[in-house]
Formats: sequence, structure tokens, C-alpha cells
Amino acid sequence: MQYQARDCVCCGSGHLETLYEIKDVRVVLPTETTSQVITVQICRDCGMVLLNPLGTDAFYRDYYSDYLRVNAAAEGATRARKRQQQHEYCQSRIPGYQAGGRVYDIGAHDGSLLSFFKADGWQVGGCDYSQSGHRFARETYGIDLDQLDFLQTDYAPGTFDVVTIFQVLEHILAPRPLLRKVRQYLRDDGLFILEIPNLDRPSAHNLANYFDFEHVSYFELASLTNLLAVTGFEVVSSEVYARNQALRVVARKGPVRGIVANCHRENRERVLAYKEQYRRIIAQIGRRLRPHRGREIILYGAGQHTEQLLREVGAVGLPQITALVDSSPEKWGRSFLGHEVRPPQWLATRGDEVVVISSFSFARAIAETIADINPRLQIVELYDT
Ligand SMILES: [Zn+2]
Repeated sequence: MQYQARDCVCCGSGHLETLYEIKDVRVVLPTETTSQVITVQICRDCGMVLLNPLGTDAFYRDYYSDYLRVNAAAEGATRARKRQQQHEYCQSRIPGYQAGGRVYDIGAHDGSLLSFFKADGWQVGGCDYSQSGHRFARETYGIDLDQLDFLQTDYAPGTFDVVTIFQVLEHILAPRPLLRKVRQYLRDDGLFILEIPNLDRPSAHNLANYFDFEHVSYFELASLTNLLAVTGFEVVSSEVYARNQALRVVARKGPVRGIVANCHRENRERVLAYKEQYRRIIAQIGRRLRPHRGREIILYGAGQHTEQLLREVGAVGLPQITALVDSSPEKWGRSFLGHEVRPPQWLATRGDEVVVISSFSFARAIAETIADINPRLQIVELYDT
């Protein structure tokens, strides 16, 4: 795995301090599976939190080339609903929305956010790397996305009334050039609407770490305000979206300024507090598994949570896994971590064995299923539910 180093993407300073390092993060590329080290740093001069060093441009281009496929399982049927809610937010923040206008969506994914604007008579445009997203947008909505990096697009200055970027800015390796280009494309009284995961609200509930190789920058309102200021925007309004704790901001063109406030102390505390919270989750899981060390167990769950479990808890000692069970029929009979994945009904044939539930969101339902199938099994849950 190759890495590239960089300076602060907000203020340009080279005074960066490492706060958190996460090893062996699994990355599925279109042609291979690899692993990365994630290094979370903070800028002492403005408080921006970012990955550094990070994967190369070529690595990320390869990774995002088929992002719709990568992301499809995670988002599933909730995708359309999520886009609709994003559109409702835009609609409520754009004065004179009913009159229509021209909107451009950066990282348009499958075009579904734009489809709502289009249905209301807006002229729409957007860009995304993903070939699958591009195809989906054309076939489903009749929207032709630019299959380009946003920086390679070429529109006349002042073309758009609104530019949107939902859950994308945190993926961008060099945000300043992108924001400068947005400023150039916007009409003088145009609006820039952003949604990003909120560094003010990370909480460790389970093994899914908030810090991830996909997210190369981490913002809360102060650091986003700084980035907007240095690229010539000012914040019109901001709010935390209750459903996912994301930060939503509407900005408009302003003067190009220096950073507004150094949020180094606050953001350093946020990252270190999260790191400690995550460490406690791992310790708790370790305590729940300790009585079973040296024994054989059945693991329920053949997915991402189990991979994370092996990575995080494997080091402190997992019991010996003898079999894997999963609720999803498409996994049955397939091999996962060297074991054949079996259907839940297979548990009916077992004796008084230990079943560890490797899931967060579905742990309670799984525990009930197991108890129904075979009451002699001893169930171990990893979380308080
Ligand atoms: Zn900085």
C-alpha cells in the first residue's frame, strides 16, 4: 500500500500532530482486497482533523470507480428515502425554489437527489466518478452526469443558482480547489448547500469506527467555517440533522479570508475522547468473550461486523470458531473466513454449545431467533441492547 503525505487542507500549515492510528483496515477494490493504516492528524494552526498520510490519488480513483456497487449493500432501499430528505432540506433553504433554476450536485452518486429537482422543473447537472452511478442516473432518471472529477468540469462562471454536496466533501483529497471552483460556478447570490458527517457527534456504539479511509477530512462547524472562509464563502445557516447527526450548512459567496478561529483544542479533545470510547467498546467485548477463551464457539454473523471483530478483538484472543451461521440465504453454503456459512436452522442440530452474536443492530432479534430454534444453546451478546 502506497501513501502520500500532505499539509493541512484548510490553512496549508505543515504543523500536524498524530492523534490516532488504526491498523489493518480492510479495503475492497474492484480487483483486489488490501489493507490500510489510517493515521488521524490534527492541524495545530487551525484545528482541522484529517488523514495524513493517506492513500494515493490513483488508489482512491480505483476505489470509487465502482462505488455504487460498493455502497449498494450498505444503503439498500433507504437510499431513495435519504435523497428525498436531502431534497426537502434544500427546498426549505432555497428562497424562490418554486420558480426553478439551475442546480449542480457534486458527487451525485446515482442522480437520485437531482431527480427530485428535475421533477420540480429545475435544470440539473452533476458529476460522479462511478460508472455504475452514471448508468443508473441515465437509465432511471434521464439525467446525464459528468463522469469526471469536478475539477475537470468546465462551465461558465455564474452558471448555477445552487451547488449541492451531500456527504462527499469528507471524501475529497484536496477540498480547497473544489470549493474555489464552486465559488466560480455560482451566481453572485447563489447558494452552496453542504452535508457532512459531524466531528462534534462521533460516538462509539459498536465496532464500526467513525474514522475510516474513505473520509479523509473530518469537520465540525468551526473547521468547516474556516475552510469556507479561506475559499471565499460565508455561512448563512447551519444545523445538525437529527436522523444521522450530520452537519448541514448553507453558504454563500463572501470575501476570501484567513481562518476564523483555531479549533485545535476542541477538536483534539473530540478525537481523543472518541479514541477512548472506542477502546472501551473493545475492552467490553473482550470481557464478554474471556470466559469462553480456549473453548469452541459458533459465531452468528458472516459479514463486516465479524471482520471487525477479528481485527479488533482477535489480538486479545478470540475463542476458537468452529462454525459460522448467518440469516442471509445468499450467504448459505458460501465460505467465509474458512468456514461454510450455515442457515440458522442448522443450530437445531447442536447441543449445549456457545453461540456468539457478531452483530450490533440485529443482536436482540438474533438472540430471540436462536432461543426459538434451540433453547439449549448458550447465547453470548457483545453489546448491551
Ligand atoms: Zn490548518
